[in-house]
Amino acid sequence: MAFRARHLLGIEHLTQDDIRTVLDLADSYVDLNRRTVKKTDALEGMTQINMFFENSTRTQASFELAGKRLGADVMNMSMQTSSVKKGETLIDTAMTLNAMHPDLLVVRHQNSGAVDLLAQKVECAVLNAGDGRHEHPTQALLDALTIRREKGRIQRLTVAICGDIAHSRVARSNLILLGKMENRVRLVGPPTLMPAGVAELGIEVYDDMREGLRDADVVMMLRLQKERMDGGFLPSEREYFHRYGLDAEKLSYAKDDAIVMHPGPMNRGVEIDGTIADDINRSVIQEQVEMGVAVRMACMDLLAQNLRRERGRALTEGQYV
Ligand code: ASP
Repeated sequence: MAFRARHLLGIEHLTQDDIRTVLDLADSYVDLNRRTVKKTDALEGMTQINMFFENSTRTQASFELAGKRLGADVMNMSMQTSSVKKGETLIDTAMTLNAMHPDLLVVRHQNSGAVDLLAQKVECAVLNAGDGRHEHPTQALLDALTIRREKGRIQRLTVAICGDIAHSRVARSNLILLGKMENRVRLVGPPTLMPAGVAELGIEVYDDMREGLRDADVVMMLRLQKERMDGGFLPSEREYFHRYGLDAEKLSYAKDDAIVMHPGPMNRGVEIDGTIADDINRSVIQEQVEMGVAVRMACMDLLAQNLRRERGRALTEGQYV
């Protein structure tokens, strides 16, 4: 069986089979979530702690709901008011939490690599809910589920990822996932917001939206990550919208049935025109939010199964984990 990982730290570590296993299970959770009674007992008796060192609206709510629907006891740590502000190191925080015996730890952190580091110090399963510019694996998985349900497949599609690529963990995780599943990925945006060296890696890079969107099946827009910019990356937001903001005219270069995606939060009138974002015939932004809960349920369910297996093995070998 696929997906034998202890943690979900990034798409980088997953195989095609792992990705399919998550998406197939998530499909069944979409059905469950549409029922009146939305509960299962997959995480019954388990404790999930959410630690968000960076602000989040939908990801934190989504993980919380996912854990509750799976029957876990869910605790949200308020990191803004925690001991971290008093100078406690990440490792000390992790060790303190570890002593409370959580089973699943969901972590978002502003520094790339911080979640991996934490995972090495604790005994539970760790899920990366976004670390710096590095990875946001559940976002890429929920995007893949949305695409698969809309297009009927997650292979051989042309996907244009547009905007602030350089600062985006969403772009990075999607680039890896879509590449693993054998899609054609184009990165579209101003050269100042393109990571150095991508063209040399053989990735298609465009600084003209119309060319980049031509015949695309999927148009994935990204937020301008101003909090990660330390200088003048753009002449102005108005100019940016004019050249790179998604409007009806630019979208007309993509396929007639192309879908429009955005991970949120959106800056309307900066990277996307509000009418496109709200157009239910093109935009699948609300579906992405729905798929987010199902994908997080699937990931936590699979990790919990692995934990149980590992602990069962340890028990038969006479040690208590
Ligand atoms: N919510 C996504 C993230 O945490 C995208 C964004 O913030 O623009 O990376």
